[in-house]
Amino acid sequence: MNWYYAQAGKQEGPLNDAQLAQMVAMGTITAQTLVWHEGMADWLPYARVSVEEGLAEAQPDSPHACTECQRSFPAQDMITFRGAWVCAECKPRFFQRLQESGETASQLVYAGFWVRFVAKFLDGLILAIPSLVISTLFSFTSSPFTNPSAGDDVNFFPLLLQGIQQLLGISITLAYTTWFLGRYGATPGKMAMNLKVVRPDGSPLSYQRALGRTAAEYISSIILCIGYIIAAFDEEKRSLHDRIADTRVVRK
Ligand SMILES: [Zn+2]
Repeated sequence: MNWYYAQAGKQEGPLNDAQLAQMVAMGTITAQTLVWHEGMADWLPYARVSVEEGLAEAQPDSPHACTECQRSFPAQDMITFRGAWVCAECKPRFFQRLQESGETASQLVYAGFWVRFVAKFLDGLILAIPSLVISTLFSFTSSPFTNPSAGDDVNFFPLLLQGIQQLLGISITLAYTTWFLGRYGATPGKMAMNLKVVRPDGSPLSYQRALGRTAAEYISSIILCIGYIIAAFDEEKRSLHDRIADTRVVRK
C-alpha cells in the first residue's frame, strides 16, 4: 500500500508498508502525524489509523519546552497560545500575566454607539477644515471659466469641478482615517474619546486593514448609516465596517 504523511505542512511519500513501519519506529511519524493512503476519505492522525488497521503503535509527539519554566513535557500535557507552549503547572501564571498586560481578548471593553458617535463628530469637525479650504479654492476657480456665450446649453464644467471636489474630499478622508488608524489605531476624534480600533484579539491594525475598514465605512454610510447603527445592537458593538474588516472599537 502507498502511504503518505504530512510534515511541516507538506505531503511526503509514497511509502510502502515496510518504509512506513520504519518511519514509525524512528519517530519521524508520531501518534499525531497525519497520514493517508488510497481509499481513506480524509487524512487522520497515525494513532487512529494504527488502531483501526492493526499497525505498530507510534511514539507520542516529541516533547516541547515550556516557555515559562523551560522544562520539557509531552505535547498532550501542554497548551499552546499564540505559538507558545506552556505546561499545566505554569498555565495559571501565564494567563495571569497576559491578563495583567491586557492582552487577552476577554479584556477588551467594546465602545458603545454614542461615544463613537461623538468621536465621529469630532473627526467630522476636523475634516471640515480641508473641505472648506477646497470649496473656497474651487469657488474662485470656477468663476473665470463660466462661459456666458454658452447660453441655454448645459455647461458641464461646473459639474466636472464638483466631481473633482468630491473626489478630493473622499481622498482626504480616506488618507486621514487610514493613516491615523494604521499609525496610532485611532483617529484624533477617537483619541479624544479614548477609543482604539483593534483586531478581535486586541492586536493593532495593519495599514492595509485600516484602508479596508475605511473603504467599508462608505458602505455603512451609504445605506442610511444603518451600518453604523447596527453597532448599538451587536454584542461586540461591531458596525458593518467592523464586521467587514474584522475589527473592534474598544476603550483604551
Ligand atoms: Zn512550565
